[in-house]
Amino acid sequence: MASTPTPRRAVVIGASMAGLLAARVLAERFDEVVLLERDELPEHAAPRKGTPHAVQPHALLARGQQVIETLLPGFTDALVARGALVGDIGQDAAFDASGQRLVRSPLGTTGLLASRLAIEAEIRRQVRALPNVRLHTGVDVLAPVHEAGRVTGVRWQPHGVADAAQTLAAALVVDCTGRGSRSPAWLREWGYEPPPEERVTIGLAYTNAYFRREGAERPPLAVVIGAATPAQPRPSVLIAQEPDAEGRARWVVGVGGYAGDHVAPTREAMAERARATGQHEIAELAEHGELIGEVMRYGMPYSQRRHFERLARFPEGYLAMGDALASFNPIYGQGMTVAACEALALRAALRHGTRGLARRFFKAAARVIDTPWQLAVGGDLALPMVPGPRPFPVKLINAYVGRVQRVAVHDAVVAGAFLRVVHLLARPESLFAPGIVWRVWRGGRPQAAHAAPQPATA
Ligand SMILES: Cc1cc2nc3c(=O)[nH]c(=O)nc-3n(C[C@H](O)[C@H](O)[C@H](O)COP(=O)(O)OP(=O)(O)OC[C@H]3O[C@@H](n4cnc5c(N)ncnc54)[C@H](O)[C@@H]3O)c2cc1C
Repeated sequence: MASTPTPRRAVVIGASMAGLLAARVLAERFDEVVLLERDELPEHAAPRKGTPHAVQPHALLARGQQVIETLLPGFTDALVARGALVGDIGQDAAFDASGQRLVRSPLGTTGLLASRLAIEAEIRRQVRALPNVRLHTGVDVLAPVHEAGRVTGVRWQPHGVADAAQTLAAALVVDCTGRGSRSPAWLREWGYEPPPEERVTIGLAYTNAYFRREGAERPPLAVVIGAATPAQPRPSVLIAQEPDAEGRARWVVGVGGYAGDHVAPTREAMAERARATGQHEIAELAEHGELIGEVMRYGMPYSQRRHFERLARFPEGYLAMGDALASFNPIYGQGMTVAACEALALRAALRHGTRGLARRFFKAAARVIDTPWQLAVGGDLALPMVPGPRPFPVKLINAYVGRVQRVAVHDAVVAGAFLRVVHLLARPESLFAPGIVWRVWRGGRPQAAHAAPQPATA
C-alpha cells in the first residue's frame, strides 16, 4: 500500500455497511478512496469475525432499499437473481402488535427480503468495482493521525502483526468501525471533548435460527414482525431469505425479550416462547422445521447515540458514520437504512467541499438519525421494563401509537400510514394528519374481518 500523500485521497476505516456506502459517495469527489478493513472479506455472502451481528436476522426497511438502489443501481435485481424476494410491504408482510395482526392490504411499495450477508456482499461487489476505490483487507487501523487541528491520515498495520505500523495519508478519514468505535477516545487523546452519549438500557437478547423453506418462490406471507408492546413485550421476527450456498431457501426466525427475559438457545425454548406469544409460524418451524446451522443467541444491552453534532470543536478531515454514530435496538430494523441515508447526507455535505465538512455532515446525519431514534427509543420507553424518563409528550405519543396499532387491525388506511412510518418512508408526524387522527379517534370503520395469524407457507 503506497503511503505517499495524495491530497485527494479519502480513507474509510471499516468496510461493512456504513463504510461501503460512504466509499460509494466519496468516490464521486475524491481521486482515490481506500477502504481499510480488519477482516479478510469473502467473495460471496459469508460470515466473518468483525461483524458477528451480520448472521442474525436483518430486515431492510423499504426506505433503505430505495436509497441503496439509488446509490447502486441494479442492487435489487442482483439480489433477486440470487433468490432474494420482493414483496409488497403492506400485503406480503404481517405486523403483529399485542397479539393482533394489522390488516394486510397492498401499499404499492415493495420491500426486499435478503439476508444481511447477501445485502452486504452485493454492495461490496459493486463498490469494489468502482475504478477509484481500493479495498485493503486484513488491516488493523491503529488510530487516525492528528496534527494541528486536522486528521491527516491513519496509522495501520497488517492484522495480527505487531510493530509493523505504517502511515497512509489522506485528506479525509471516515470512521465506520461500528458501535465500538474508538473515535470518542481518539478525540480525547487529541485534546477535544468526546461527543455527548445517550444510552437507553434495553437488556435485549434474541434467540435466532435458520430453517429450510420449501420452494424458492415467495410464500404468501414472507415476513412476520411481532412488535413489542406494553401488552405483549416479547418481540419476534420471521423473514424469508434467499437460498444459501448449498441452494437451500431459508427462513430466519428470532424470538426476543427485554431486561433479561431471554430465551434459551434451543429450538424447544424457541417454540415455547413463540407459542406463548401467538407466533404460530415460528412455533411450527421451531418444532418441525429443518434447522440449518445452530440456534444462536445475540444480546444488545443498550441503544447508543453519540451526538457529534453538538461538539463545538472537531478536527478537520475527519468524520464518523453508521453505528459509530448511533446503534439502535435491532428489533426496529433501522441500522442499515440509517447508514444508507447518512451516505446521502454525506453526498449532499460534500457538494460544498471539504472545508467545514464535519459540521455540515454531523448536522445532516443528526437529522437522519432523529426520527428512527425517536421511534426506537419512544417505542422502548412504552415498555415498563425499559428504564428512563418518560416526559408527558412521550407518554402521550406512546398512548396514541398504541391506539393507532389497535385501529390498524381493521383499518387499512391507518395500517398503511403506520407501516410507512415504520419503513421510514413517512415521518411520524404523518400519523397526526387530520384524516388519520380522525380515523384513529373514531376507532376506524370496520373493513375486512380481521383474520387471526395464519401459519406461513413454509
Ligand atoms: C442483532 C442485530 C440485528 C440487527 N438487525 C438489523 C435489521 O434488521 N435491519 C437493519 O437495518 N439493521 C439491523 N442491525 C443493525 C446493523 O447491523 C448495523 O446498523 C450495521 O451493521 C452498521 O454497520 P456499520 O458499518 O456502521 O458497522 P459494523 O457493521 O459493525 O462494521 C464495522 C466494520 O469495521 C471493521 N473494523 C472495526 N475496527 C476496525 C479497525 N480498527 N481497523 C479496520 N477495520 C475495523 C469491522 O471488522 C467491521 O467490518 C442489527 C444489529 C444487530 C446487532
